[in-house]
Amino acid sequence: MAATGQWRRMGRLFEMAPALRRCPRVYSTSPAFAEVLRLPQKQLTKVLYPLRELAQHLVTDSGSGLIEQGLFDPSLEDIARAESIFEATARNRIEYLSSAVRLDHAPGLQQPEVCFIGRSNVGKSSLIKALFSMAPDVEVRISKKPGHTKKMNFFKVGKYFTLVDMPGYGYRAPEDFVDMVETYLKERKNLKRTFLLVDSVVGITKLDNIAVEMCEEFALPYVMVLTKIDKSSKGYLLKQVLQIQKFVNTQTQGCFPQLFPISAVTYSGVHLLKCFIADITGSLK
Ligand code: GDP
Repeated sequence: MAATGQWRRMGRLFEMAPALRRCPRVYSTSPAFAEVLRLPQKQLTKVLYPLRELAQHLVTDSGSGLIEQGLFDPSLEDIARAESIFEATARNRIEYLSSAVRLDHAPGLQQPEVCFIGRSNVGKSSLIKALFSMAPDVEVRISKKPGHTKKMNFFKVGKYFTLVDMPGYGYRAPEDFVDMVETYLKERKNLKRTFLLVDSVVGITKLDNIAVEMCEEFALPYVMVLTKIDKSSKGYLLKQVLQIQKFVNTQTQGCFPQLFPISAVTYSGVHLLKCFIADITGSLK
């Protein structure tokens, strides 16, 4: 039965949650994450593992393999540890560093870097705000007004990594902007992973395709994050996820096969994404 493995994993998750609650000091669970852990089991799965929750609705044997999952399948302990990396404290400073319009103006840092790209309005600022929700002093700068110079914004996450908010792209993107993004993606030596945001309601657009082609051309390891999942019914979201998964499986080489659906409103998938970022930057070691 396709569902058997699913239930076994769910069972494991349910066994672990109370265990984590019994000894929160071990990995300094933040009050916000402790709240998450107190959610009823079904909601807990939805918030922490949205893909798993969605895949349960694929009832057929053949259907269960249509959504790639389980490649990145961290324990609750790892998710809790990643939370503490994203929590600003006196010893773990999370701060805006600088902005740059050209790669040679970017801060010269050795630590691993991750960047977020996506078309304007995809939900990039909202997601970055959600990632930094436990660092209230961090201001995610938004320059959306037409005519404003679009910049890359660098944020330092403790001693662990740098997160770069790339300018959103739209139609008629000026050439110097394309140059800036391309040069950064092609030449940034410490860039560990590119997160390409796609609106789950809209699906992959022509503009997203251009970004995919760029990542493929530069042979970058990248990850597709599906935003705004709270906006759709479960049925519609499932249809969109299946379509995007098929695209990833058949049209891409460098894209991580597992999708990351998120909502910046309900925080669904945000904790898992934090854990993935922490993992690929070596921050969980
Ligand atoms: P950006 O241009 O990519 O930085 O997009 P924003 O973060 O500014 O978001 C664009 C619009 O989508 C805003 O109206 C946000 O409130 C909305 N939005 C962003 N993320 C979400 C989400 O997860 N759920 C919902 N329902 N709306 C979102």
